[in-house]
Amino acid sequence: MPDLDIPDLNDRLERLSPAEILQWAWSTFAPHIAASSSFQTQSLPLLHLISQVCPAMPVIFLDTGFHFPETLQFRDELQAHLQLNIVVVRAAVEKSDLLARYGEGLYRRDPDLCCYINKVEPMQRATVGLQAWISGVRHDQTENRNNLRLLEPEADGLLKIHPLLNWTKKEVWAYIDQYQLPVHPLLAWGYVSVGCAPCTRPVHAGENERAGRWAGLDKIECGLHLGLTRR
Ligand code: SF4
Repeated sequence: MPDLDIPDLNDRLERLSPAEILQWAWSTFAPHIAASSSFQTQSLPLLHLISQVCPAMPVIFLDTGFHFPETLQFRDELQAHLQLNIVVVRAAVEKSDLLARYGEGLYRRDPDLCCYINKVEPMQRATVGLQAWISGVRHDQTENRNNLRLLEPEADGLLKIHPLLNWTKKEVWAYIDQYQLPVHPLLAWGYVSVGCAPCTRPVHAGENERAGRWAGLDKIECGLHLGLTRR
């Protein structure tokens, strides 16, 4: 791991564009760096920037087995369009074994456990050997994300990097328009933020873009961005 002055770097990198931050990250950490993406409309700027700046960057996709078919279709479309280096990661436990142990509907009864098995633990495995992990989270998405810094060291040394942290929803859309990028097929049906099918509903006018995730539950994050990784 390079010897980095994180507070100083946070101050300096916040003055750079997402493309420049990505370039710095790739030149500092490659090949011990990867990005992750859920392949939804708001993922587009980060994925497009990766294709332009560092196309060899692995892009981890967590295949929970609960995705909308449209998300898998969109992922494949973007892979062909942007020539991304996508790495698909799945739960360590077969779905049939999960069903046998927990029965149907674990995502309703214990969504934190379901997210742990299908997202957090697979990401823990996927980041073993990495020094840095790039994610497209933004300040304006949730209260927790509003408190993040551009560089966030995890307790075990993995450095999380958020090149788009200071972008607004408006800037994301301006970028998508500028580069004429394809959008997720479910956006037209109100799915502004798309996760697993059982835990996502369309967003209504005036709601936060993540209001449709785990709606009705006291849960706003799957755990990937709450410092749970590799602990
Ligand atoms: S988002 Fe829902 S279905 Fe997907 S892993 Fe989490 S609880 Fe399970």
